[in-house]
Amino acid sequence: MGLNNQTTVTAELGKELYCQHCTYIWTYRGRSIFHTACPHCGFRVRVHLGEARAKAFRNGMVERAE
Ligand SMILES: [Zn+2]
Repeated sequence: MGLNNQTTVTAELGKELYCQHCTYIWTYRGRSIFHTACPHCGFRVRVHLGEARAKAFRNGMVERAE
């Protein structure tokens, strides 16, 4: 009824990140930058990894760097 129709386009703001340390995948919505900490293990993850790359990781199309 009186609620605002908030169509939040979080998909555009969020960035899918992949942690090479624990293989955790999450959507990062911070405004920064170059690095962020993995919410699961605290490993430093590059924000600039890119969504396509992260999806490739998830699909096993890209070898995991160890
Ligand atoms: Zn991690």
